[in-house]
Amino acid sequence: MRGNSEAHQLVAPGSLSAVLELLAAEPGVWTPIAGGTELMVAYSAGRLNAAKLVNLWGIRELRFIDAADGSISIGAGATFADMRRHAGLCEGWPLMARAASWIGSVANQTRATLGGNLVNGSPAADSSPALLVYDAEIELISVRGSRRIPYCEFHTGYKRNVLAPDELVYALHMPRRFAQHKQYLRKVGTRRAMAISKIALAGTALAQGGTVAEIRLAAASLAPFPARLYKTEQAILGLPVTPETIAAARNALLAEAAPIDDIRSTAGYRKRVAANLVEEFLIEAAQEEAQP
Ligand SMILES: Cc1cc2nc3c(=O)[nH]c(=O)nc-3n(C[C@H](O)[C@H](O)[C@H](O)COP(=O)(O)OP(=O)(O)OC[C@H]3O[C@@H](n4cnc5c(N)ncnc54)[C@H](O)[C@@H]3O)c2cc1C
Repeated sequence: MRGNSEAHQLVAPGSLSAVLELLAAEPGVWTPIAGGTELMVAYSAGRLNAAKLVNLWGIRELRFIDAADGSISIGAGATFADMRRHAGLCEGWPLMARAASWIGSVANQTRATLGGNLVNGSPAADSSPALLVYDAEIELISVRGSRRIPYCEFHTGYKRNVLAPDELVYALHMPRRFAQHKQYLRKVGTRRAMAISKIALAGTALAQGGTVAEIRLAAASLAPFPARLYKTEQAILGLPVTPETIAAARNALLAEAAPIDDIRSTAGYRKRVAANLVEEFLIEAAQEEAQP
């Protein structure tokens, strides 16, 4: 059943400081709404529990992408269309730009924001695996000030995170240190566009002298929230990419992954495909290093 508009109040203070004052005055009472591509779907289905909504759409201080020499900062209010069109992001953090181009439809991408994707916290969120393998930091803001934490510490459970009731996500920051790394991102869904992933895997790896000197792997839909695959990384680190290393990595992934059966896929399929993607990434990384 469709939601009843009289059950909801929407305010639009118009500036970041005014929104933060409102959240501080009544912590936990106001629910931010940015692009609304999650919340309006809930509203249309009669599932929107938030009685009081505060509008973030149009707040300029949240919608920016700043590329500097050593890093890039993306405001929580940047849309996925902003991201996939940003030349600096496409050049320096191509996995992030590619993930942005996969989200929903073009129409969706013009409203859907990075902050909304992360706070919604779907295990299948498309922006998360790339942020994780690029060692992103997330910046949270309130009237008390701002704090930066590694993005890998943001999600604490299924649709749960470390945001305090008076805080917003302000920005994501990624270092520019992966140019020499083999970079990999693959989303497996029912079709190429307009499909939530069954499984997605991102990776960055640095091969030196025939061994894997650095590796980061992260997945969507293998756990209650998008996460690094630390145990699988450990099975590869410091080793040459041989059939034995690939077999060990596959076994580590099968032991580490904890997906569920749901309407989009089964846990068994997700595990098997994720192991295949890790293998594909390792073979590509080894081939790249072998090239003169
Ligand atoms: C047709 C369709 C297709 C989709 N396809 C995909 C897909 O392929 N991949 C994918 O990952 N997602 C997909 N989505 C989900 C959705 O578009 C994304 O999650 C989007 O990024 C949500 O952003 P938003 O700004 O619209 O969030 P909103 O709906 O405005 O908010 C979502 C949540 O985030 C909170 N929030 C928003 N901004 C902030 C902030 N700055 N600080 C604190 N809290 C905040 C809100 O309170 C709410 O809890 C799809 C949705 C639709 C309707």
